[in-house]
Amino acid sequence: MQQVITRFPPSPTGYLHIGGARTSLFNWLFARSRRGQFILRIEDTDVERSTEESVKAILDAMEWLELGWDEGPYFQTKRLEVYREYAEKLLKTGHAYWCECSARELEQRRGTALAEGRKPKYDGACRSKALGEGTNRVLRFRSPESGTTVLNDIIKGPIEFENSELDDLVIVKSDGIPTYNFAVVVDDITMGITHVIRGDDHVNNTPRQILIYRALGAKLPEFGHVPMIHGEDRSPLSKRHGATSVMEYKKMGFLPEALLNCLVRLGWSHGDEEIFSREELIEKFSLENVGKSPSIFTMEKLLWLNAHYIKEKRAEELVELLRPFAAAHNYPEKSDAFMAAAIRTLRPRVHTLVEMAEAMRFYMVEEIEFDPEAAAKFLTAEMVPVFSRLISELSALATFDEETLEPVFRNTAQELKVKLGKIAQPVRVALTGGTKSPGLFEIMEVLGKDAVIERLKRARSGRAEER
Ligand code: GLU
Repeated sequence: MQQVITRFPPSPTGYLHIGGARTSLFNWLFARSRRGQFILRIEDTDVERSTEESVKAILDAMEWLELGWDEGPYFQTKRLEVYREYAEKLLKTGHAYWCECSARELEQRRGTALAEGRKPKYDGACRSKALGEGTNRVLRFRSPESGTTVLNDIIKGPIEFENSELDDLVIVKSDGIPTYNFAVVVDDITMGITHVIRGDDHVNNTPRQILIYRALGAKLPEFGHVPMIHGEDRSPLSKRHGATSVMEYKKMGFLPEALLNCLVRLGWSHGDEEIFSREELIEKFSLENVGKSPSIFTMEKLLWLNAHYIKEKRAEELVELLRPFAAAHNYPEKSDAFMAAAIRTLRPRVHTLVEMAEAMRFYMVEEIEFDPEAAAKFLTAEMVPVFSRLISELSALATFDEETLEPVFRNTAQELKVKLGKIAQPVRVALTGGTKSPGLFEIMEVLGKDAVIERLKRARSGRAEER
């Protein structure tokens, strides 16, 4: 069987957005699942809008998502010779011709056509002039005037186009730069692409590309056009719905595994499974299971997936990932081991690394800040003897973990004749500043004896009551 070769050909006119990342992922997965090759090609022929920063931004995002490519990145602007060679082939076989119509003339004729109720397509004025190359001349593709072109789309099924609807499109501009539809065909032919998987905003380009393949006598690849991504209001995903850049999600504290898992489910499904590891995806991915209707991106789902992957990750790995987020809070330096212990307690409770960095504040800072309401309610004068008793009992402990802490609390409650529940919340406020946190003994164990005693003393000292 022929080796599968897919490609991802972004135009470097901005960052990698969610839609592009999904296209890239599908091509990568398809290649990996068939033991094929995945090529990265930068389509930078729009010289004015293409920037090096965008190239870098796209590569960074692909690296973050670990969508490794086997070949490239190729740059179209470095392949002008190749397009020239193929343009000459088309000229020689009569499938292309030079056109001297100026932009102004074309504009005028388009205006007239529209006014007369005709389609404003190129009227073929230079078709039979047999012009040679010259300044301000563009090369046009000679489209068949009749007949139909069928796109047998793997995802959408057959789609038929009337050739009469298709323009004699410009394939090389007067500055020698090829246009998208031409360059993409030449690249896909010369790079041996077997499967073109892309967004369905390109469906209307495909019959034009098929005609160019045929004119060049080249074998067609398989085409699969993936439906659009919509936001929750069922309109195409845009900035109105939130971040669209992949790297924004990194900044928002998402893990690449979660975003990848979310992206793959935008269009593809495998029964009602939701969670897939990279290995499972490679094993299970197929184009047959890509749906025909637009898929909906929801933040809720992404948050849910992220919470899942945060729980799954080793605490030591999370330490590394969390450091930049913690740095944003200017917390004092803490050891990896301390942070890992803190993370283990927080991990089940957060959805993002940003939330985690915020939630770990009470572990990291020397002096916690009290939520005024919580302090007023729980750090009362009545608690002073309870805290004193706890302080002396805890000071006597040689080990400081759940097993040794629990009896101290139980006995203190019994002896002072208060309910255990009445002690727990004030202690929580004393240790964390608020009323919500991981389990009390867990946080005490992480904070350690000295910090716990100090915080209890501080809460007892009445400073909290002054608030
Ligand atoms: N450069 C095109 C884009 O970014 C590629 C389309 C294609 O896959 O052919 O939309």
